[in-house]
Amino acid sequence: MKFNMKNFTDVSFMFTESTRHIESYYACRYAQSRALPERPALAGDCDADVLVVGAGFSGLHTALRLALAGRRVAVVEASRVAWAASGRNGGQALPGWSCDMLPFEQALGLEGARALWDSMRWAAAEVRELPARHGFDVDYRPGSLWAAVRRSRVAMLEAARDEAAQKWGYERLRLIAGPEMAEWIGSHRYRAALYDPEGGHLDPLKLALGLADAIERAGGAIFEQSRVLAYRETPGGYVASTREGTVRWYSPAMPTSIGSTANWPAVCCPWAPGRSPRAGSTLRLPACFCRITVA
Ligand SMILES: Cc1cc2nc3c(=O)[nH]c(=O)nc-3n(C[C@H](O)[C@H](O)[C@H](O)COP(=O)(O)OP(=O)(O)OC[C@H]3O[C@@H](n4cnc5c(N)ncnc54)[C@H](O)[C@@H]3O)c2cc1C
Repeated sequence: MKFNMKNFTDVSFMFTESTRHIESYYACRYAQSRALPERPALAGDCDADVLVVGAGFSGLHTALRLALAGRRVAVVEASRVAWAASGRNGGQALPGWSCDMLPFEQALGLEGARALWDSMRWAAAEVRELPARHGFDVDYRPGSLWAAVRRSRVAMLEAARDEAAQKWGYERLRLIAGPEMAEWIGSHRYRAALYDPEGGHLDPLKLALGLADAIERAGGAIFEQSRVLAYRETPGGYVASTREGTVRWYSPAMPTSIGSTANWPAVCCPWAPGRSPRAGSTLRLPACFCRITVA
């Protein structure tokens, strides 16, 4: 199917099944030291408290939080863990939202938007701290720069810094300007940059695979090569079917990226609970790490 804006809201065609990771920088680098892990497909019937569809960041982090809270979790992935965006993105773990704060403020008011800002900051900290908590490494490099070439952009950076401090209570952004820029990046091309000590870079594939291991250690089950084809409600729960098996579960959670949510009711969207994502918007990596609370 060809991409066009008309079918953008139904982008399930993006999620083809694959038996192996594409040869991304991260997958190739990982494979140099050890084999990429493979997990069995779902075969037969399985019972869970929660079914998580999709082993990207959203699904894996949700599943880990649930498993740690004592829930029986089954993660069902069409291809491989982190086969899609989560395993091959830019690895920039930056606090903030791709659409910036204005749409949130307009929709939710100042307090609501501030709650989202705080949750994003929590998520960025979670991304930084989670690997050490669970004993794995993601090659995290702290710090990020939002750099400007044009003078008009420098004013934008200053405005962003001031807005973060005044509206969102975030005072850690620092403007780096003039000759100091060259000391940071070895180039005189850029006039200025905003330095954020809470942003950073990591290896996304290692993060996803580390999360998957942590889920299994916490008692959760992960099935690869198991695309969920359909689900139905039954008395007392739901049943989802894959080619070779079924999962019976009791609470729905489907935190996959915007592509697949369009086709599913009762979707738990990671970045704005209870709201539909804007077509064309993208999630940032920390947005997939929600502070879910298990009652
Ligand atoms: C090229 C690129 C670069 C990016 N760079 C950055 C970056 O530098 N920093 C940043 O913060 N964000 C970045 N992003 C965005 C980030 O990667 C995504 O927001 C994030 O990975 C989304 O995670 P997810 O779990 O929601 O979805 P995904 O990682 O897409 O995972 C969804 C999973 O669900 C599975 N699935 C779908 N349907 C079914 C089904 N029916 N049954 C079973 N499984 C199913 C898919 O196979 C897939 O593995 C980038 C994205 C892209 C595409």
